[in-house]
Formats: sequence, structure tokens, C-alpha cells
Amino acid sequence: MLPLDHHPSGRHFLQIPGPSPVPDRILRAMSLPTIDHRGPEFGALGLKVIDGMKQVFRTRHPVAIYPASGTGAWEAALVNTLSPGDAVLMFETGHFAALWQKMAVKLGLAPEFLAVPGTDPATGLPWAWRRGVQAELIEQRLRDDRAHTIKAVCVVHNETSTGVTSDIAAVRRAIDAAGHPALLMVDTISGLASADYRHDEWGVDVAISGSQKGLMLPPGISFNALSPKALAASKTATLPRSFWAWDEIVEMNKTGYWPYTPNTNLLYGLSEALDLLLEQGLDAVLARHRRWGEGVRTAVRAWGLPIQCADASVYSPVLTGVVTPLGVDADAVRTLIHARFDLSLGTGLGKVKGRMFRIGHLGDTNDLTLIAALAGVEMGLKLAGVAIAGGVQAAMEYFAAHPQPRALKTAA
Ligand code: PLP
Repeated sequence: MLPLDHHPSGRHFLQIPGPSPVPDRILRAMSLPTIDHRGPEFGALGLKVIDGMKQVFRTRHPVAIYPASGTGAWEAALVNTLSPGDAVLMFETGHFAALWQKMAVKLGLAPEFLAVPGTDPATGLPWAWRRGVQAELIEQRLRDDRAHTIKAVCVVHNETSTGVTSDIAAVRRAIDAAGHPALLMVDTISGLASADYRHDEWGVDVAISGSQKGLMLPPGISFNALSPKALAASKTATLPRSFWAWDEIVEMNKTGYWPYTPNTNLLYGLSEALDLLLEQGLDAVLARHRRWGEGVRTAVRAWGLPIQCADASVYSPVLTGVVTPLGVDADAVRTLIHARFDLSLGTGLGKVKGRMFRIGHLGDTNDLTLIAALAGVEMGLKLAGVAIAGGVQAAMEYFAAHPQPRALKTAA
């Protein structure tokens, strides 16, 4: 039996915060025959997707595309710009920030991990995992680094493990206010094309993203958006690199080709995804996600459950973390919901495992899909014995009272 046969009828509800549901139009585009990646047609495809990704990152500078998951692009960012033993300043916002920090250690860098201290007494959860990056802590640390030993500041834009975003423009201002030359690296793997991201305006040196979130593609390609300062750093950085090296990729990308075999069919999908996103307009795409996030949070508030993100100014438009009452195993609730209603929710990761689950509101979705997903969660919480009021009703009222400004063109 194929794994997909587990879903007896109707569509599976993929409500994890990535991989996100892929529009049929993108799946169809990916089913076209694979072409010669050194042949005449390929260059036009390559140039189109690179140009489109520049628009999505809001940059005029090169974007490298890797046939790899996001983890590969994390590594690419570090090895292209840094040298063994370099100090890097990272900020603990959740599981993905922690994984990136571990990678830096494995690569022979010397990361320092800043975090908001303490634990929330009401939920028992670390405050660091309920808040975004605190730019003033970065500024203070950089001011103290008079010798400029810190070579890069690395932060996660949308922490997928918690549903908390971070104010990247504020981090840029903090670096500038400290008069520090460190590079700014931003993981926007789950932020790009769902949460506002502005590479050039915010002065980011290396951004990292992946295909399986806001771009609405299957997993398998990832990105580095660069700045001239990052490219200059790559000329002197000495960490070993070959597959990830920007220089050859950037050079060959000028004509739409790669130094190795790119992921041809995923690039067909990317081309289609870019058409969808750019036809609709990025601002409309971002507004759509903000509205979905508010609708889902309206349900969570009505249930009376805490939202993992404790700072309303940085709620994620991509996903919402729902904290279960003390003594209720969030993973057991998730497993029950999957078994009973064919609905996948994101598991709690790392320090919040078993204490929360995550509802994704990204990709090929709409109001009614989200209402149905919330109904699955509501039924599951009740079956698990959690005393809650009607959250679905509250979300329906929110969506009805707040019409979406423009329809999403994913059909056809
Ligand atoms: N960073 C963030 C914020 C993520 O959400 C993920 C994956 O979900 C990663 C990094 C790792 O990316 P991947 O699993 O594609 O290697």
C-alpha cells in the first residue's frame, strides 16, 4: 500500500507550517517532461526564476538557488562568508534558531547565543520561545565588542517552531547604532512570501529561504539572497566549501544555468509559483496571510488557550502555536486529531515538545479550509477532555466580518 492510500476519501488536511499544500496549478507545471539542463530552453527558465526570486526577496542583488532543503542554504550562508573560529552572534527564538546555532558549532564557528531569560510561570514555557529577537540586546552586545570580533549576526525571521516573527529592520538599526561591521544573516525559510520581507531595504547581507512554505512548492530547493557586502566577504572567507560556493553559481546564473544539475521540475513549479504570487502582487499575498492568522488566533482566544507567541506585535502570519493546558499532552491531542479527522498539525519541537501544537495557515488554503481545520482541532480538543468554548464560531464571525480584499488566483 502506498502511504497516500492511508487517506480514505477527500483531501487530507495538511495544516503543518510547511511543507504547505501545493496548488494544483503548480503540481501540473511540475509534471512537464524534464528537459536538458544545458540545452537552449533551460536558460530562459533559469533567468525567469532568478529574476522572480529577486522580486520576492525584494532585492536587486544575486539570489543563489540550491537543489537542497533549507538546511543546505543555512550552511551555504555560513561557509561562504566566514572563517574557522569566527565569532557569530545568534539569538534563541526557538527550535530552528537552536539548530542553526548547533550547525555553526559543527562548522567550527564560535556562536554566542543570546536569549530572553526566564520562564513564564503561567505556562511553564521559556520566555525566549514566546518572544522575538530583542534588538536592544544585540545592540548592547555589539557595542561591547569594541574589537569587532563578531563577524555576523544571525536571526530567524519567522520562527516556525513557535509562530513568532522578529523585527529585522530593528536588528539592522541596532547593528548600525552600534557602528558594528558584522554581516546580518536572516533565516526567512518560513517567512518569505507569507510575512513581509525586504532584503535591500532592511540591509540584510544573506537571507536563507526554502521552497516548501510560502512559495507553495514541495520541499527540495532553497535560496540565498546576497548583498554586495556578503559577496565581498566570500572572497576572503576560508571555511571549506565547494557545492555551496556562490562564485561559480552566481557567474553561471548570469545566463540562466548552474554549475551542476539543478532541480528541473521543481524549477518549473517555482516558475508557476512566481506567476501566481507576482500576478496577485506580494502585498496582497501578505495581507491574505495576516488575515488568516488573525482568524485562527480569534478561534484560539475563544477556546481560552494561550497563543505560544506572547507579543501581539510579532504574531506570525504563517502559523499559530497553541499551548495546551498543563497536564494535557499536546502530541496526544495531535495524534488523536490525525487519526479521527485526517488532519495533520505541527508538533511541538525541542523545549516546547508536548506543550503545544502548531496550526499552519499558509500555502494553497482559504477561509473554508481553515474553518474546517479549526473544526477538527476543536473536536479533537473536546475529545481529549479539554474544556473549551466555541472557537470555530468566533473564527467564522471574524472571516465573515473581514472580507478578503482580492481573490487568490490559484484555480484554473
Ligand atoms: N529554518 C526554519 C525557520 C525552518 O522552518 C526550517 C524547516 O522547517 C528550517 C530552517 C530547516 O529547513 P529544512 O527542513 O528545509 O532543511
